[in-house]
Amino acid sequence: MLIIVGFKRTLVTAALPYVNNVPHLGNIICTLRADIYSRYLKLNGRDALFICGTDESGTRTEIEAQKRGLTPDKYCKQMHDDILTNFNWLGIEFDNFGRTSSETNKELTQEIFTDLDKKGLILEKELTLLYCKHDDRYLPDSYVEGICPHCGFDGAKGDQCDNCSKFLEPAELKEPKCKLCGRTPEVRKDMHLFLDLPKLSPSLKKWIESKRDWKGVTRNMPLSWIKEGLEPRCISRNLKWGTKIPKKGYEDKVFYVWFDAPVGYIAFTRDYLKKDWKTWWQSKDTRIIHFLGKDNVPFHTIIWPSELMSNSKWTLPDYVASNEYLNYQGQQFSKSRNVGIFTSDLDKVGIEPSLWRFYLSVTLPEHKDYDFSWQDLMDKTNNELVANIGNFLFRTLSFSKKHFGEVPKCALSPDDIKVIDKVEKLKEKYALKMETFELKEALKTVLEISNLSNQYFQKNEPWVLVKTDKVRCGTVLNVCLNLCSTIGRLLYPFVPVSSEDLWEQLGYKDDVGKSRGAVLTVGQKLGKPSILFKKIEKEDADKFEVMFSGKDAKGSKSSKKSEKDDGDGMVTYEEFSKLKFKVGTVVDVKDHPEADKLYVLSVDLGTEVRQIVAGMKAYYKPDEMKGKQVIVVSNLKPAKLRGIESQGMVLAAEKGKDVVLLSVDKMIKNGANVC
Ligand SMILES: [Zn+2]
Ligand SMILES: [Zn+2]
Repeated sequence: MLIIVGFKRTLVTAALPYVNNVPHLGNIICTLRADIYSRYLKLNGRDALFICGTDESGTRTEIEAQKRGLTPDKYCKQMHDDILTNFNWLGIEFDNFGRTSSETNKELTQEIFTDLDKKGLILEKELTLLYCKHDDRYLPDSYVEGICPHCGFDGAKGDQCDNCSKFLEPAELKEPKCKLCGRTPEVRKDMHLFLDLPKLSPSLKKWIESKRDWKGVTRNMPLSWIKEGLEPRCISRNLKWGTKIPKKGYEDKVFYVWFDAPVGYIAFTRDYLKKDWKTWWQSKDTRIIHFLGKDNVPFHTIIWPSELMSNSKWTLPDYVASNEYLNYQGQQFSKSRNVGIFTSDLDKVGIEPSLWRFYLSVTLPEHKDYDFSWQDLMDKTNNELVANIGNFLFRTLSFSKKHFGEVPKCALSPDDIKVIDKVEKLKEKYALKMETFELKEALKTVLEISNLSNQYFQKNEPWVLVKTDKVRCGTVLNVCLNLCSTIGRLLYPFVPVSSEDLWEQLGYKDDVGKSRGAVLTVGQKLGKPSILFKKIEKEDADKFEVMFSGKDAKGSKSSKKSEKDDGDGMVTYEEFSKLKFKVGTVVDVKDHPEADKLYVLSVDLGTEVRQIVAGMKAYYKPDEMKGKQVIVVSNLKPAKLRGIESQGMVLAAEKGKDVVLLSVDKMIKNGANVC
């Protein structure tokens, strides 16, 4: 196995999700890659940590908290917990998932600032800022929009132009507009602090040039920016929520969100490890690897290392593993327009986490953008995961269990050895791809191994041998079972939960995540075989495509007006009054024949009994639901859920893992309107 020499431990980070946004599929690409990589390291006995957390500073946090009548801290805590719950559902395993508003982070940010200031790397300048009188606040970054002074792009944000990627200051924009109220803000002058990037630029250049293994944009983008000449970068903001600036005259200001956010990587490590944290951040033996989307490259290759250069004790990142974008059916993801699938939706469509992880891994946009589609999700899942890997695992395990019940003895033939040698070569390729962050390619070698394995099974016809030559049959199955075992270990970083299931079916007593190899013992009793990966049905894929397309049932795009309404989450009374709610009694509860999590309910609405499919199986036993009065959306168009028609919807309340049915305060006649 190839091991990067010279490092004793690896610290893996994923870009910090902004606390105000529910991450969508595209946002979590870097998180998933970091998870795969960190699981791979740990599985191979390497000392690794996976650190991430929510980025909580900024104007938007203050505004969103205010809207909800919460303190910024309470609001951030809720959002942090929700984001983490969604990541956990997907099997992302952080060692620590912290919050940048923590005291540790504030302390470290202030220390880094003070060191930079001592080194003469902080400048003071009078700044021309935009102030909205109507909203009574300064308008930083994302709260101003206007025309980019560099490329003329209309709709450039106050901190960066989406078109030419140039950093901007809000007051540089032409024809600026307040994004809160749409009014033209007024210009005010105020003293602010700047990071002296021009002064740091020779050190940055030398450092990036030494990183010969950095790929594409991670190397080219910062080097070309440095060549063009870096500008001093403002690091202070007129806000209350955030990290206070420890400098006379700036007590009423806080650090710019991006100044304190990456410091979170250090703070979360320190909070997690307590006194041992320095070996991870102040040691040449530690390899620090940042996974992030390409929009985050400038911050991690210019601003963040500049902060670390405040003091020679800090370890600089060794590698920046950036990815391109995952788009949604040719569009941008948009929560307000209901376009695309967000992490909070993932558990609602009945597709297992392993299938999501496999699909996202096999299509990772590591070198170029990729376009998600439900059709593609179905094709890749059914043709590659189910028909190739799933098929080989299940046929081997069920056949072996039936005819041997344990791992049979083996006497390898020269042809068997040839196959095993080929697989060994592919395992080496897998390791090389993993070590060089080509995770998609690594997964593809597992598909190659599975292909070979299917061919081997097919060619050796164990179903014939079992009748004609049981000893040879045992050898063939021994080889196949060991291939299953190899596949299980190689798949673990990608689909950990399914790998653990497979491990159990192979009769191992330990967890695959803690295993140190994949060689089966002759005579090892096999577990109960079951299908690990389920096909995605065409009708489900079609249904989800409509559900997440931002189109209504008639297929037309939601109108401009309702887009705007969605923006602040409000519906009109007229829209609301279209929905009819009724009280009904659950009279029967049956298991859905095609779905593990669904019940098929019969609900008595007084004048009729409706068949309703509900995802309540994980939360209620049939007896707990029978006889209960529930609230039903009675005029919802019937829809098929996994092949069974649902004539309405039962309302429930959900928070993280808790789901409870909505009911009535006192018994009332079935069919009563909810008004
Ligand atoms: Zn521009
Ligand atoms: Zn305004």
